[in-house]
Amino acid sequence: MKTFILDLIYIVSAFAFIVGIKMLGKPVSAKRGNLLAAAGMTAAIFGTIFLNESVMPTNYVWIFGALILGSAVGYVMAKKVQMTQMPQMVSFFNGMGGACAALISIVEFDHYIHHPGTGSVAHLVILLLGMIIGAVSFSGSMIAYGKLEEKIKDFRLPAQQVVNILVLLVIFGLIYAFSAGIVVNPLTIYIILGLAAAYGLLFVFPIGGADMPVVISLLNSFTGVATAFGGFLYDNKVMLFGGILVGSAGTLLTVVMCRAMNRSLANVLIGNFGGKAAASSGRAVTGTIKEISAADTAALMKYSKNVVIVPGYGLAVAQAQHVCHELELSLEAEGAQVKYAIHPVAGRMPGHMNVLLAESNVDYDKLLEMDDINPEFKTTDVVLVVGANDVVNPAAKNDPASPIYGMPILDVEDAANVIVMKRSMRAGYAGIENELFFNPKTRMLFGDAKKMMQELVNELKNA
Ligand code: NDP
Repeated sequence: MKTFILDLIYIVSAFAFIVGIKMLGKPVSAKRGNLLAAAGMTAAIFGTIFLNESVMPTNYVWIFGALILGSAVGYVMAKKVQMTQMPQMVSFFNGMGGACAALISIVEFDHYIHHPGTGSVAHLVILLLGMIIGAVSFSGSMIAYGKLEEKIKDFRLPAQQVVNILVLLVIFGLIYAFSAGIVVNPLTIYIILGLAAAYGLLFVFPIGGADMPVVISLLNSFTGVATAFGGFLYDNKVMLFGGILVGSAGTLLTVVMCRAMNRSLANVLIGNFGGKAAASSGRAVTGTIKEISAADTAALMKYSKNVVIVPGYGLAVAQAQHVCHELELSLEAEGAQVKYAIHPVAGRMPGHMNVLLAESNVDYDKLLEMDDINPEFKTTDVVLVVGANDVVNPAAKNDPASPIYGMPILDVEDAANVIVMKRSMRAGYAGIENELFFNPKTRMLFGDAKKMMQELVNELKNA
């Protein structure tokens, strides 16, 4: 009976995961989708603890101690995190998932060694693969966390690709030797674990600025795959299912991000990502810049028919999304048509801008993807670039030495007027200069995005 109820819980949980993920696709249902998937996970965890007849746990103190501690730490972190630190937190949590998957494999390995004959060679290989992928995901995510936090800089060994391939070959060689019985010392597993963790570091350290989104989604899919291997080991259907779901969603996102960045997945895997260009900061840009005041910008926009707002990471930093929506409404009241141009890697996590703008109730239909908005710039009167930099940098199209070369960008230069709102001439995430700022059509509106947006709203009201 218990097994029947548990199976039922697993089916309901799996259903909650699928519907939850589907609901994440729209800002209006995303919060409920998240809660639904979390409820499914809670049911699966408690069902497994209390209803699993094959392994009835006896160490409830450890289980509930860990559950309470983990939940408390996660709750406090999630409550405290600023919206701008969200990408780092997602990376950190992803790394923790990878570490859990690796730990599961190590514990199971102990069981495998002390009960010879209980597991097949396939079982051992799955166990080792889960451990390796989990360890890569853990160490890689920690470096990604450090990079997003801007505490870790890009670092590339002289023969990075060769080193990466060698490390991978040694790992797979050891797996083969161990599962074929050529090497029997159980401590080998710790060498494999160490090499896998080292590979995660080697793999993420050199990633050039603008290529981080692909790596983040790839690490996300790694954690899913490692968890799915854990599900295999325990013959736990819901764990297997959840892992496959995360793994496949992460893989799809990686493919989408690769397309958005015009990169190949093969290059990511062998560490050629960012290529030689990653070490370069592109060519120097010279010319003069023209400044504009908030009053003049408001006057220009007041008489514009078509306005496109390009949100970037600076919008998130300034928390300017609400006043941005206010500006949009003010412009519409003046008779302008306002749209938002969303670049796939704007901000610091996939979908960052959509989340921010949805939070301030911007109509989802006004958010246009890059491919849809690019042809419209030619008929746009004013483009207002708010705290965006790399995603509008023409170096991606015309400077082969640039680390973002090849990445499709928003063609804002095609518009009649470009206003760039940022605090200074400082570079964006990729650390390179932007010749858009020197374009004759461009004027710079210097200042914090929230403050300047508010000034624009006030100017429009008082005009
Ligand atoms: P960028 O990081 O290129 O530029 C952001 C700009 O915002 C900076 O130049 C900064 O200039 C400005 N800014 C910062 N704070 C403020 C503020 N308070 N008010 C006004 N402006 C401000 O952002 P983009 O969105 O254009 O590009 C995203 C970059 O991040 C890409 O390189 C992408 O690859 C990378 N990335 C994206 C991830 C994703 O998944 N989306 C993940 C990891 C990296 P100033 O200091 O002068 O104000």
